[in-house]
Amino acid sequence: MKVRRELIEALIEAARETHPNEFFALLTGKKGVIEEFVFIPFESGENFAAFNLDLIPLGMKIYGTAHSHPSPNPYPSSEDLRTFSHGKVHIIIHYPYCRNCWKAYDSNGNEILLEVVD
Ligand SMILES: [Zn+2]
Repeated sequence: MKVRRELIEALIEAARETHPNEFFALLTGKKGVIEEFVFIPFESGENFAAFNLDLIPLGMKIYGTAHSHPSPNPYPSSEDLRTFSHGKVHIIIHYPYCRNCWKAYDSNGNEILLEVVD
């Protein structure tokens, strides 16, 4: 699976703007390249593991999820692992939201390497 560099940059920017709250989005794209995200609003304190699937545009292919951690911890929580059932690639962006402040995981929470393409 590949990911566009601009998408990673946009996710990091969104995480920075949402700080100190968490940001949550669904990842989409085409032909195995993650190109776009759809921001999923959720109330602070609400468990976003149970986000409303009606918010996903019809016919949209969900490659996975992305969310931010307002702390330097890049690892998925047990709650995160439950949201990882939607799609194959799960990106966590962590504080301080630097260029390389993100990691990708598979649906089991194992770290994976994504190829970043321009
Ligand atoms: Zn998390």
